[in-house]
Amino acid sequence: MTQPVPSHTPDSAAPTWTVGDLLVRRVDEVALPPQTGSWLLPAATPDIVNRTPWLQPHFATPDGVLHLASHSFAFEVNGLRVLVDTGIGNGKTRANPAWHNLDTAYLQRLTDAGFAPESVDLVILTHLHTDHVGWNTRNDGGTWVPTFPNARYLTSRTEWDYWADVDMEEARKQMFHDSVHPIRDAGLLDLADVPGTGAVVAPGVRLLPTPGHTPGQIAVGLRSAGQSAVITGDCVHHPVQLRHPDITSCVDSDATQAARTRRELLAALADTETLLLGSHFPPPTAGLVVSEGRGYRLVPTPGTVTSS
Ligand SMILES: [Zn+2]
Repeated sequence: MTQPVPSHTPDSAAPTWTVGDLLVRRVDEVALPPQTGSWLLPAATPDIVNRTPWLQPHFATPDGVLHLASHSFAFEVNGLRVLVDTGIGNGKTRANPAWHNLDTAYLQRLTDAGFAPESVDLVILTHLHTDHVGWNTRNDGGTWVPTFPNARYLTSRTEWDYWADVDMEEARKQMFHDSVHPIRDAGLLDLADVPGTGAVVAPGVRLLPTPGHTPGQIAVGLRSAGQSAVITGDCVHHPVQLRHPDITSCVDSDATQAARTRRELLAALADTETLLLGSHFPPPTAGLVVSEGRGYRLVPTPGTVTSS
């Protein structure tokens, strides 16, 4: 029943974006397989995608199939070394064949990007879904141990409370068992209260409430020396949702709220100099939001590829 994992692993070089004095790195885990888009965003049919030519070639194939990726972002602010989201993880038992028993070089890429696991101080989890918490832990002789032993792991209190209250299906229980509870049990998990105005967790780093995909989903706002950026988490999965903000994900806990959140975020970013960094956007991953018709367009801002 196991399908092969995707063979097209991303380039190991780590692209970076400058946001004021911050250098934001993308740390690649894996390109998601082509069937991901039609499953995740079923309303983004090839016909819809093909009517938005700027999505090609980076964000969709000529046949209108969406490209999606799994990666983290890493940056250092005032000596605090921060990682946003931890991907799918290696060796996890997962129902989704594309996420099952991965064996990627993510940790090596993270280290090569200058963020050796033991050097990470803060891990921000935008929400507690399988593809955002996987590298919270690694397998150590059959035991799932924290990958970042010297870090505080941070998610929103709303997110934690939601899942604590839900009667989870087995697959999700498994995910919490191997990727979330070991962090809590090690005393490394912190919960942030995130009011409507956001919560500042480090100089220039603000958690932004962006509910809908999950109740406690947060985006991460960055501000430094007059420049700014927003890391989406899963309030926007793919640039096609700039053109069509009402295209929702099949795994949104509240799709109506998710669309409202997306519209509000995009309206706030439109025609500004704030860089949008997509947590599942394939390369070039980032860009500026520009008004176009009744929606928006992403004008890509490719990162600078270093040879670190
Ligand atoms: Zn996701």
